[in-house]
Amino acid sequence: MKTVPEIDGKTGICGVMGDPVGHSVSPAMHNAAFRALGMNYVYLPFNVSAARLAGAVEGIRALNIAGMNVTIPHKVAVIPLLDEIDPLAQRIGAVNVIHNKAGRLIGGNTDAGGFLRLLEGRGIDAQGLQVAVLGAGGASRAVCFALASRGAEITILNRTAAGAARCAAEMAAFTGRAFEALEMNPANLARSLAKAELVVNATSIGMAPDVDKSPVSRELLGRRHTVVDIVYNPIKTRLMRDAEKAGAMSVGGLDMLAWQGALSFEIWTGRNAPLDLMRRAAAGALKSYED
Ligand code: NAP
Repeated sequence: MKTVPEIDGKTGICGVMGDPVGHSVSPAMHNAAFRALGMNYVYLPFNVSAARLAGAVEGIRALNIAGMNVTIPHKVAVIPLLDEIDPLAQRIGAVNVIHNKAGRLIGGNTDAGGFLRLLEGRGIDAQGLQVAVLGAGGASRAVCFALASRGAEITILNRTAAGAARCAAEMAAFTGRAFEALEMNPANLARSLAKAELVVNATSIGMAPDVDKSPVSRELLGRRHTVVDIVYNPIKTRLMRDAEKAGAMSVGGLDMLAWQGALSFEIWTGRNAPLDLMRRAAAGALKSYED
C-alpha cells in the first residue's frame, strides 16, 4: 500500500452523478484504487436531480472536476450538455463517463467495454452464439453493441414491443447485423430461450429491493444456457440462483461493474486500474448494504 496523500490544494476530484446515488458503490471502488496507487484524488457521490443536470454539468467545468460517472437517470439527458461525445457512446446513445480534458467535457461509454471484459474473463466467445437479451434500455444497448461487435446472433425481448423494435433497428443500423425484436411475454420467452445459448438480463428486474423477482421462469432454464445477469445488487440475483439450480452457468453484474469503473479510471488518470481491488471494494460495499 502506497502512502496516501492528504487532501490538499492539488487533490483531483472525480465523482458520480445520478438520482439516487446513496447506494452507489463507485465511491468505494474508486477511492480504494486511488489509495492503493497513492494518487492524490478523491471520488465523491453527487445527487443531482433532473432539473439541476445542466447546472451540475456546468459545475464540472467551473470546479475543474477531473472526471465524472453518470448513472440513472441521466445517461441520455446529459448528451446534449457535453462538448463532445465519443463515437461509441454516440452509437449506444448513452454516456456513463465524462472526461474533463482541459475544460472540454467528453462523454464516453464504458458499459459496453465492461460487458465485453466480463465475457472475456469468463471465457465466453460470442461469435455465432444465439443470445437472448432481455431489456432495451441504456444498459441493454451497450450489451447488444458489445455482443454484435463479437458476432453474436441476438434476439432483444422487452416489456414493450416498440422499445425492443426501436433498440433492434438502431443497433442494426450501427452494427450492420440483423437483430430480432420481440415483446417479452411468456410465449416469446419460451421460444427464444429454447434456441438461446446465452441469456443476458439487462432489465432492472431482480434488483434490490425486488430481490425475489426474475424476468424468466425457472422451467425455461437448462444446462445448455449460460446466464449473465448484469444486475449487481444483490450480488447473486434470483435469476442466477434459478439458473444454477437448472444446471446452467451463471455470471452476475459485478465483473461488468468493476470493469466499467476500471475503464473510467483509466480514461481520467491514464493509469492502469487495479481491477481486482476495485472488484473487492465494490463487493464489500454491496455486502454492507445487504447486511
Ligand atoms: P433503463 O435504461 O431504465 O432500462 C430498464 C430496462 O428494464 C428497460 O428495458 C425496461 O423496460 C426494463 N424493465 C424495468 N422494469 C421492468 C419490469 N417490471 N418488467 C419488465 N421490464 C422492466 O436502465 P439501464 O440503465 O438499462 O439499467 C438496467 C439494469 O442494468 C439496472 O439494474 C442497472 O443497475 C444494471 N446495470 C448494470 C451495469 C453493470 O455494470 N453491471 C451497468 C449498467 C446497468 P421498458 O422499456 O418497457 O421500460
